[in-house]
Amino acid sequence: MSRPDIILSLRDVRRDYAQRADMVERMGRLLKGGGKPKSVQAVAGVDLDVMAGEVIGIVGESGCGKSTLGRMLTGILPPSFGKILYKGQNIGQLTGEARREYELGVQMIFQDPFSSLNPRMRVIDIIGEGPMVHGLVSRAGKEAYVAGLMQKVGLDPAYRFRYPHQFSGGQRQRIGIARALALKPAVIVCDEAVAALDVSIQAQVLNLFMQLRREFALTYFFISHNLGVVSHISDRVAIMYLGRIVEIADTDTIFQRANHPYTQALIKELPSLRTDRRRFDPIKGELPSPLHPPSGCAFHPRCPYAMDRCRVERPLLKAVEAVQGLHASACHLNDMHLNDKQNAAQTQETT
Ligand code: SF4
Repeated sequence: MSRPDIILSLRDVRRDYAQRADMVERMGRLLKGGGKPKSVQAVAGVDLDVMAGEVIGIVGESGCGKSTLGRMLTGILPPSFGKILYKGQNIGQLTGEARREYELGVQMIFQDPFSSLNPRMRVIDIIGEGPMVHGLVSRAGKEAYVAGLMQKVGLDPAYRFRYPHQFSGGQRQRIGIARALALKPAVIVCDEAVAALDVSIQAQVLNLFMQLRREFALTYFFISHNLGVVSHISDRVAIMYLGRIVEIADTDTIFQRANHPYTQALIKELPSLRTDRRRFDPIKGELPSPLHPPSGCAFHPRCPYAMDRCRVERPLLKAVEAVQGLHASACHLNDMHLNDKQNAAQTQETT
């Protein structure tokens, strides 16, 4: 491992999906004697280091590739290109005990707490079967182990023989958290883990995540479309747009000095109770289809500052200031002289 505090590293990680061809396309390909099926790039090259004990928030609209990224980290999906390192070792090449350590060490909590739990299994088996199979607990010790975990996540152990449908949404998500914890992970990938919950329950579950992080020294890869939710829990935030990270910084910097126009728009979009705020500012347009990504900067069709250069040249993720860690952004405005930037901003205000 290059640095002892890095637990996960992503190096130019990409993921393509082959598009399902319809009948006409299949016939056309047959007549032409072959040809490659069209593919969609869900993740288009992500480089990221995650520190042990860190909570990194991954934010973006639906379809930006953040869930695909989470699934690749847990090994559910292999990357099409690039590599993912866990404690310095390429997960694609792990075998034997090292593979087992990775598989137990990186767990996932899913968005829908109902469909992610087997409706035919009792809670004691949902939580206790994994650690028993992997030899973390004996058959005789399973019941006490599960009871202890249920207490840790705020569930009454007396309910351990119940089925998932006998619990509320918030309780089911706590079962999902206990199931992940049961395997003694170092990293938990939370994929929209509170999105399906009521706002009051969201706060309780977020507090639980923080409490467990302290107790078990966990690292979270916290995926959400909601920048507000992420801000409560994350040390650092990475903003994704159409398969790429477009800005990354520690959470305070993102909120106080967002650099990328997309991040600025996401912050403007956050609901506010301020009485002087008269209107809601949604981002113009929709996320483009990954099947037909825009040329140059993928955000240019929606960006109020788009210039000719933005339509032809993709901006690279570059450091914009030396803060704790790094503040990097992918925007051509950062290459411009300050006066030019102010002119661009004034043009935007007058339109
Ligand atoms: Fe907007 Fe251009 Fe920056 Fe992209 S590169 S965010 S289009 S100003």
